[in-house]
Amino acid sequence: MDRGKGPRKWDIDGNEYVDYRTGHGSMILGQAHPAIVDAVQTQMAKGTHLSPCTEVEIRWASLIKQIVPSVEKVRFVSSGTEAVMMAFRICRRFTGKEKIVKFADAFHGWSDAAYVTDPDTDAAYGIPSGTASSVINLPPHDLEAVENTLKSDDDIAAVVFQGNDVARPEFIRGLRELTERMGVLLMIDEVVSGFRWSMSGCKGRYDVTPDVSAFAKILAGGLPGGAVGGRADILDVIGQGGVRHPGTFNANPLSAAAGATRAPTFDRRADCRNGRSVGGKTPGRNKRVDQLQMEFINQSMVESRGVHLSSSHQDSEIDFTVDKFEAALTEVRKTGAI
Ligand code: PMP
Repeated sequence: MDRGKGPRKWDIDGNEYVDYRTGHGSMILGQAHPAIVDAVQTQMAKGTHLSPCTEVEIRWASLIKQIVPSVEKVRFVSSGTEAVMMAFRICRRFTGKEKIVKFADAFHGWSDAAYVTDPDTDAAYGIPSGTASSVINLPPHDLEAVENTLKSDDDIAAVVFQGNDVARPEFIRGLRELTERMGVLLMIDEVVSGFRWSMSGCKGRYDVTPDVSAFAKILAGGLPGGAVGGRADILDVIGQGGVRHPGTFNANPLSAAAGATRAPTFDRRADCRNGRSVGGKTPGRNKRVDQLQMEFINQSMVESRGVHLSSSHQDSEIDFTVDKFEAALTEVRKTGAI
């Protein structure tokens, strides 16, 4: 790819695309939004790394605290992977317990603990056995399995679930009730869902207050950045509780400028609605899907898997997509595959 503007992108040969990847879901305002460009350019001229805390970092943190009711304190990192990694550590330090419960089909970034999936393949991914045994994978949406696990193991620090999972609200509320009763922390990974599915996070979507949340992507206005937020007493294990939080580019001023600029630039409710309506999962791999996908690419419709909208997508983009979708289906139908 060469450049992007709003909901469109152009490759190095000049082909135009509707952008349905929107920076892996991070560009909720679309490509090169003027307010973001202006904020980043202004900050660039003021300095891109000033070492101690900056005023723009404080504005960014205040904005998140104001929008997300479960966030009493927040700490910035550089990616979603780091946010989850730090959140796991905080939960472990706060509870004095070691294990994390997660769900088998969830993705929480590529750190060792988050990547634990299957005892047969973990070692092949280079995950140490000690780390692998500190993570318990449970089948998705099975409250009974969670209850049995929490009752049979008293070394569990937290249960983590993925905010972009299409879970029933009863399941999430059940998780909250169970974890509270068993003295285990509840953590939501909002790296994809944050500021897209609901502006106020887990509380707005499920009426559930998590103890700890991990954010990234939209949080930083399309620049690299992530954050851990949650109950003040839990976040206080950083510093006062001895957990260190170094990181050269934590809360870097460019990401802070982009993240802090988002709020005044658009109607957040419309933005959320827009982003959510196409936030579904793509179908599993099979030959027909692959063939369809090739046709979509031939029709300059998408360049890869995974679909996210931005607030810059208008009816014209959707109409264009539907037309191309029909054209792609027609071409595949001609081959007799469908
Ligand atoms: N959590 C979830 C739910 C994700 O989808 C991802 C990546 N898409 C991550 C964590 C990791 O985020 P990052 O790519 O910023 O490290």
